[in-house]
Amino acid sequence: MKVLVINAGSSSLKYQLMDPETREVLAKGLCERIGIDGRLTHKIPARDAKHEFEIPMPTHAEAIQAVLDALLSPEYGVIKSASEIDAVGHRVVHGGEKFAASALITGEVMAAIEECIPLAPLHNPANITGIKACQAVMPGVPMVAVFDTAFHQTMPAKSYIYALPYEYYEKDKVRRYGFHGTSHKYVSGRAAAMLGKPIEQLKIITCHLGNGSSVTAVDGGKSVDTSMGFTPLAGLPMGTRSGDLDAGILEYLMNRYGYDIKEMLNILNKKSGVLGISGVSSDFRDLSDAAEQGNQRAELAVDAFNYGVKKLIGAYAAAMGGVDAIVFTAGVGENSADQRLAIASGLEFMGVKMDAQANNVRGRETVISTADSRVKVLLIPTDEELMIAMDTANIVNQ
Ligand code: AMP
Repeated sequence: MKVLVINAGSSSLKYQLMDPETREVLAKGLCERIGIDGRLTHKIPARDAKHEFEIPMPTHAEAIQAVLDALLSPEYGVIKSASEIDAVGHRVVHGGEKFAASALITGEVMAAIEECIPLAPLHNPANITGIKACQAVMPGVPMVAVFDTAFHQTMPAKSYIYALPYEYYEKDKVRRYGFHGTSHKYVSGRAAAMLGKPIEQLKIITCHLGNGSSVTAVDGGKSVDTSMGFTPLAGLPMGTRSGDLDAGILEYLMNRYGYDIKEMLNILNKKSGVLGISGVSSDFRDLSDAAEQGNQRAELAVDAFNYGVKKLIGAYAAAMGGVDAIVFTAGVGENSADQRLAIASGLEFMGVKMDAQANNVRGRETVISTADSRVKVLLIPTDEELMIAMDTANIVNQ
C-alpha cells in the first residue's frame, strides 16, 4: 500500500510517499514559497537523490500538482500512475474536542475541522487548503485527517481544565488540548515494543524536545497529561516561545511599554524562550557553542530548559503513581547527549540511572539507562509521517 502524507503550512507543504507496512519512504520533499514564487525539493532516499526545481506555485493546488508531477516523472519519479497512491494522510493541527482519533475526510469532517479554526487560526486554515488542493488534484482518493491534538483527548478533566470561570470551558472550549500528539503516540508505542511489554501495562513519560517542546504522561497507552495547553505557547520554554508564565506579567509589561495584545503575543511567541533568555539563538546547537565559549545567558537558557523538563518528569511520575520509561525524542531529544544527561541526572532517587556511554549516541532507537536502572530511559527518533501513514492505512483498510 502507498500512502501520501501531506503536512501543509501557510506557505509550505511537506510530503512523503511511503509504504506503512514496510516503512519504506519512496520519496519525500518540500514545497516552499507557495503564494510567492515556488520551489520544490524532491528526494528519493533509495537512490540517495535530491532534485530542486523552481515552479510557480500561486496556491497550494499548484504545489500539490508539482508534487504529483515529481512522483510520476519518468526521470525522478517513483510511481508510474497516480492510481498507485492508495490514500492521502493529512496532518491537521487542531481537532478540538471533536476528534479523539484520526478520521476519514468527509464533508462532515471538513466542516468540523473548519469549526476548529478559531482554536488554531494560523494552522487549521493552511491544513484545510492542503486537503482541498489534494481533493481537487486527486479526486476519489480516500483522505484521512490525523490531528496533533487527538492523542491527548484521553486526558481526564482534572488535567485539562483551567481554573477559570467554568463557562469559558463550556461555552468557549477553553481547556488544555495539548499538541505533538502524533509524536507522543508514535514514540510511546515504540517504547512498549522496545521493552517487549504491552503498552497497557506501562507508565511512560515522553519528552518531545525540539524547536517546539512538550512532555506527556502516557499511562497504559493513553495520554493523561501534557505540558502544552490551549495553544502550543504553553509548558516548557521553547526556541522562541515563552512557555508557562504568570499572566500578571502581561498586564505589567503592556502597561509599562504600551504594547497592545498583538505586540505582547508576538514577544511571547517569537522573541522569548531560549532565544529570549540567551539573546543568542533559538537553536540549541548555537546555545551550547556559545555556552562553551563562556556565554552565561546561553548557559542559563539551556539550564532553564533542562530544569523545566526535569520538573515535568517528576510531576508526571507523581501524577501516574510511578514511571517505567522515559523517552527522549525530536531534534534536541534525539541529538543532544549532554541535555539528556543533564535532564535525567538527579533523578536517581526515583530509579533512573543513566548509562553515560550508551547515551553517547544520536538519532537511533537505543536504551540509554543502565541495565539495572528501574526506570528505562530510551532514545527514540520520532516519525510523525510514519504514524500518519499507519493511521491512514488503518482507517482506509477498515
Ligand atoms: P525539531 O523541532 O525537532 O526539528 O528540533 C530542532 C531543534 O533541535 C533545533 O532547534 C536544534 O536546536 C536542536 N538540535 C538539533 N541537533 C542538535 C544537536 N546535535 N544538539 C543539540 N540540539 C540539536
